[in-house]
Order: sequence, then structure tokens, then C-alpha cells
Amino acid sequence: MAFGDFLAKRMKKSLEKKVNKSTLNEENIKDTLQEIRLALLEADVNNEVVKELISRIKDKALGGYIEEGANANQQLIKIVHDELQSILGQDKKGLDLNKKPSVIMMVGLQGSGKTTTANKLAYLLKKKEGKKPLLVGLDIYRPGAIDQLKELGEQTGIEVFEKGKQDPVKTAKQAIDYANENGYDTIILDTAGRLQIDEQLMDELNELRKTTSPSEILLVVDGMIGQEIIEVTNAFNKLLKLTGVVVTKLDGDARGGATLSIAYMTNLPIKFIGEGEKVNALAPFYPKRMADRILG
Ligand code: GDP
Repeated sequence: MAFGDFLAKRMKKSLEKKVNKSTLNEENIKDTLQEIRLALLEADVNNEVVKELISRIKDKALGGYIEEGANANQQLIKIVHDELQSILGQDKKGLDLNKKPSVIMMVGLQGSGKTTTANKLAYLLKKKEGKKPLLVGLDIYRPGAIDQLKELGEQTGIEVFEKGKQDPVKTAKQAIDYANENGYDTIILDTAGRLQIDEQLMDELNELRKTTSPSEILLVVDGMIGQEIIEVTNAFNKLLKLTGVVVTKLDGDARGGATLSIAYMTNLPIKFIGEGEKVNALAPFYPKRMADRILG
């Protein structure tokens, strides 16, 4: 069951049982807070975030935020929603693509969905913003990665620039020249991913960053990997100064909880979410929508 439905169901059940008066008190919200806590933990939301959320919800619920005569259940749900949103952020955070051409560097661990997301993003920018994007295949280590990107590009009609196994820094430089000569306004670099963060990967990414001065450095993370998501995000951010995060695989049995952990623990803006394997399954991250979805 999706996290949102799960939390909503658990909350509603305990609310129906306990909180049917118009006043919330320590006693009648105890079980509901416990349900919220368990649902968040089971959805892999970081423990620190869970504690903070529960404490904020409790303070507000008992702190006179309830309007006179208002239905206590609805009020409590509103408090939870507001607190979720205050952690997720108020507004959608877009991309800075003012430079001509703008470079977007996609980074992430192998299997996170980086290559797929690079293509989805190119497609979205072309379709929705009228951009002329160029995809650049720089993942020379994962067998078949460049061919995969070319196949995806063919499906979406987006050109892929690649030079096989040539040094990625050299290829990236050539791609920028090529973009300038051929009128591409957005260059999306699909960099190499590894199974784990290692020094060699980080050195190469750093070299690429220095050479291409990206307007955006987006980390692609798998929303299903659990607690590790914070460590991975912090490690990439420390070295590369990320401009945003894309959380993938939030479809199906999605644990939207990962977005809460990232937003609170890393303070980085989540810019997009991946909601499927299809090319149009990438959406801007709207904090309010995610809060709605988490609450069901
Ligand atoms: P990379 O190694 O990071 O480049 O990962 P890929 O782009 O090859 O993606 C790994 C797998 O995850 C592929 O099978 C993708 O189709 C799948 N994938 C990527 N994004 C999503 C998503 O948002 N939802 C789902 N369900 N699958 C995804």
C-alpha cells in the first residue's frame, strides 16, 4: 500500500476511535500521534525527522491552534498537513537555465535512474519549455549505458552526443563546442554512476564540474533505498555542491517518505520526482501535492 494511503488509514482509524470531541488533549491524541509515528518510521522517514514532526504536531495540537467549534479530527489532519509541508518547502523550485547553453550535470549511484531521468528531463524541457536539449553520454563504465541513452534519445527525438570510451572530461568539452555550433541551449550530462561512492567517481565528477561550470548539478536518488539516502545525498553534496535532488521510483508502492527525509536532513531542494519508467513519468516537485499525497 502506498505510504499516503497507509498513513491516512492509520490516522483515520485512531482518530475515529479517540478524537471525537472538539477539543484535543494529551490523552485523546496519544494514539493518533503513535500511529503517525509508526507510519512515518515504516515509510523509512529518518528518525530525527519523525521526532521533530511529532513534536511540532503535538505542540500545535495542544497549543490552542484549534479554532473554536471546529471539528477536532479535521483540525488535527490540517496540522499534520501544514507540518509536512513546512518541512517539504512552500513552493516548487525550478531550474536555473539562463545561461546559453546551460549545462545540467546529472549525478548518482548506478541503478538510481540517472540515465532514464536524463532523458525524461530532456523530453520535459523540450516539450514544456521549448528548449533544444542535447544529451551527452559520459557513463563509460557501466556496460551498455551509452547505448541505453542513445536508444532512449531515439524514442524522444533528442540527439545524444557521445564519443564511446573517450575520457569523459574531453567528451564534455567537445559536447559544449558542438552545442554552441549547432544551436543547442541545454546540455544534459549523463555522468558515470558506481555501485557505491568512491574516490575515483568523485574525482571524475569534480573534474567535470570544473570544466563545464554547470548551472545545475542534480543528484538522482532512488526513493526506495531507505535510510542510506541521506548519507548518499550528503556525500555528493559535500563534494559537488548540488543544486537539487531528483527522487525516483516514487510510483507504485511509493514511499514518499524519502522526500521528507531529504528535505529536512539535507536542506537541498527536491526539484523533480520520477514516477515510472515511461519517458513522461517525471514531474516537478510540488511540496503541497506531496503533503496531500502523504496524507491521502
Ligand atoms: P542509472 O544506472 O542510474 O543510469 O539507472 P537507469 O536509468 O538505467 O535506471 C535503472 C532502472 O530503474 C531502469 O530499469 C529504469 O527504467 C528504472 N527507473 C528509473 N526511474 C524510475 C522511476 O521513477 N520509476 C520506476 N518504477 N522505475 C524507474
